[in-house]
Amino acid sequence: DTLDKGLEKSSQGFFDKISRAVVGKNTVDDEVLDDLEDVLIASDVGAETTIKIIKRIEERVAKDKYVNVSELDRILREEISGLLLENPHLHTDNIDTSKKPYVIMVVGVNGVGKTTTIGKLANQFKSQGLKVVLGAADTFRAAAVDQLVIWSERVGVPIVKQGMGSDPASVAFDTVQSAVAQNADVVIIDTAGRLHNKVNLMNELTKIKRVMQKVIPDAPHEVLLVLDGSTGQNAFEQAKQFTAATEVSALAVTKLDGTAKGGVVIGISDQFQVPVKYIGVGEKMEDLQIFNGMEFVDSFFK
Ligand code: GDP
Repeated sequence: DTLDKGLEKSSQGFFDKISRAVVGKNTVDDEVLDDLEDVLIASDVGAETTIKIIKRIEERVAKDKYVNVSELDRILREEISGLLLENPHLHTDNIDTSKKPYVIMVVGVNGVGKTTTIGKLANQFKSQGLKVVLGAADTFRAAAVDQLVIWSERVGVPIVKQGMGSDPASVAFDTVQSAVAQNADVVIIDTAGRLHNKVNLMNELTKIKRVMQKVIPDAPHEVLLVLDGSTGQNAFEQAKQFTAATEVSALAVTKLDGTAKGGVVIGISDQFQVPVKYIGVGEKMEDLQIFNGMEFVDSFFK
């Protein structure tokens, strides 16, 4: 299916590297573990999570000195899925439809796939029969507004926008107000992700929230941070910075189809107290999936 296809590069790269690491070996010894560590690092699992996984395998190997390398795939799969399942933050539902409209504020730096993710989400919600309104509050880039307009037309959902350089909070205000007036189910608001100045970013996002709350007191119901999965350590870094700047409640990891480093999702799931909710596995409208740890591991270990 799409997930298997989307993770093909990651999965293939991972197992090619592992088979190279264990060639000529029988048992899982220190050398094999060192090589495995390199493979995990190269797949962008991240240092912290890699160490955790290696430690667990070491413990298993210590109990049974003759673990055959042919069992390594299975052991690794068990340890990684164990790690993903242990994280209580990983399990996330779709949207809470008792909130009407359910307001999603989308944050992330330019180029990560924010606009595309918003378009894909709008399409998913619409096909579930939900009424969606988009808000173009990334008013710093004309291209961002244009792109979002294109997506709104493609999907067939209304969009609220103002002129270039207008106040993002004002756009957000108009958007939620319009959504309430139209009795919409979901509002998705794009924001400018300028990370160069953390204080500015924090102030801007805080202001957008405050202004929306004049219309809907408990909005936003979700702050979705979009990360580009193909950027590896940059994605970790951005997750750190955004979670420090604002209360992020969910993550979307994009472009997993274009990378051999899908391990980034494993590391991010392990290290942040925020669930990965969506993964992007292509450029098309339907290439967005709700993240499921078990399915992910299944596809990764195909
Ligand atoms: P933004 O600047 O963050 O809004 O980024 P865009 O949404 O404009 O996306 C930047 C580029 O990444 C575009 O060419 C998208 O088609 C592409 N893109 C976004 N998500 C995915 C994905 O999941 N897979 C692939 N292969 N490309 C993606």
